[in-house]
Amino acid sequence: MASVLQPQSQENDSNSSENMTNTIRIYNTLTRQKEPFETVEPGKVGMYLCGPTVYAEAHIGHMVGPVIFDTIKRYLVYSGYEVNWVVNITDVDDKLIASSRKRGIPMSQVATEMTMDYLSNLQSLGVDQINSMPRATDNMGEIITFIEELIEKGFAYASGGDVFFDVTKDCDYGQLSNRSVEDQQGEGGGAAAKKKSAGDFALWKSAKDDEPSWKSPWGQGRPGWHIECSAMSRVELGETFDIHGGGLDLMFPHHENELAQSRCCHDKPMVKYWMHNGLMQREGAAAKLGGKSDRAENADAASNKISRSAGDGGLAQLIEEQTGDRIRFFLLRSQYRSTILFGDNALAEAGQALSTFYRLIERYDRLSGHSFYFGTEYAKTRATGDQELADASGELMEAVAAKRSVFLEKMDDDFNTAGAVSELFEMARSINRFIESEDLEDSKKRGDEAMSTLASAMSVLRELGAILGLFIKKPKTAGGDGSEDTVEGLLQLLIKLRADARAHKDFATSDTIRDGLAALDITLQDLKEGTSWEKS
Ligand SMILES: [Zn+2]
Repeated sequence: MASVLQPQSQENDSNSSENMTNTIRIYNTLTRQKEPFETVEPGKVGMYLCGPTVYAEAHIGHMVGPVIFDTIKRYLVYSGYEVNWVVNITDVDDKLIASSRKRGIPMSQVATEMTMDYLSNLQSLGVDQINSMPRATDNMGEIITFIEELIEKGFAYASGGDVFFDVTKDCDYGQLSNRSVEDQQGEGGGAAAKKKSAGDFALWKSAKDDEPSWKSPWGQGRPGWHIECSAMSRVELGETFDIHGGGLDLMFPHHENELAQSRCCHDKPMVKYWMHNGLMQREGAAAKLGGKSDRAENADAASNKISRSAGDGGLAQLIEEQTGDRIRFFLLRSQYRSTILFGDNALAEAGQALSTFYRLIERYDRLSGHSFYFGTEYAKTRATGDQELADASGELMEAVAAKRSVFLEKMDDDFNTAGAVSELFEMARSINRFIESEDLEDSKKRGDEAMSTLASAMSVLRELGAILGLFIKKPKTAGGDGSEDTVEGLLQLLIKLRADARAHKDFATSDTIRDGLAALDITLQDLKEGTSWEKS
């Protein structure tokens, strides 16, 4: 539970920030302005995103935060930071208890099933940057300790088996959401009678009959939702960390209460940058928004958001129909703070736009005989990319370098993925124009120099695509049964076995593989980057 605020020597500072770009600016909900990104500890970023309450299957609205923050992490890593990204799982809650009763199964089973559903959706959307996913029920000791500390410091009180946070003791309450203590209503019902004032909210709830409960100094019970995040973020990231994210609907009361608990307990800021992503709305519901642009007013959009309780769902089916790439691309086409309009039209449009890139990639594979997805630029850093393009010459590479710069400027500007995606389009357009002006479709006119320029341009597309988590793997076909992926996987395995055999001068085996594939009309082509295959 060590604080991340370790004193750093001057020398240390300059060393570790040497390769860092200092151009990133983040919109901070706390100050309502874009601020230069400066980390608590040089070169390191601690990032926390409020994760799901696992009581029902996820819907597409739940994927906005994970896709955005997955992209933010990719960009920070690309920019030279070491990032620790934590997403919590709330696996004890009223809704979980209700679901477990309704289904007649233990709460832990509901939680496990729905966590698996959530993880599989993340995987389909290419969200693979999360470092840890702590569960509330695994952190009961830390949660109880946190509550004890708050009581000891006079910010919380026990009452009839419950423990409440005393909002009147926190004079800064409301600074994140611009709301007052009067807006914070806390728990009603039976709990209301135990509270000193209406705004006090529960840190610990005494167990009712048949509810899952844990032993505590205040009797059997379970934690409130807000305290889970304060406790788990402290365990994973320390008392003060860099970025806290979540949907706009979580700003109040959840984040406001997290902030109050942590700041009061540690007497220091909890988070440097509070980031809130916009919510999703169905197409056609847009008119209800009324063109409001102020972020505080935008919280009203929460009433129109897509939610489980409104009967939306079937994300796994949607992914099956649309493919994970398309949904990810669709989400990244909006600036993360804006409202995302979701519906058939928007998805179809995203699919069409995405196919522009896939057509170019297929074209490149066909012309070059290389597979785009064999590239090694996925792990490229910004510094390496800058270096490689420093002497870019020729019309195409100068254009590509210029568009890459704008792409990075957009990403630096509060992770404007929408702006970055438009630069990628421009880049694809330039590359297609180059293929045409150089007549590369005509194999007789296909010169080595032009092909090498094409490969360099495609490598920049790969570098920038990887930041967005796109064009990393050959796309799945919508509605496909996955057999194409299996074929690709088996062929890659055979290609590897053949390469191993050749490395050991076992030509009998390598010839068997080649001839066996030839009998299936599959030819192997050995290239500098690796071996590609083609079915005639
Ligand atoms: Zn939270």
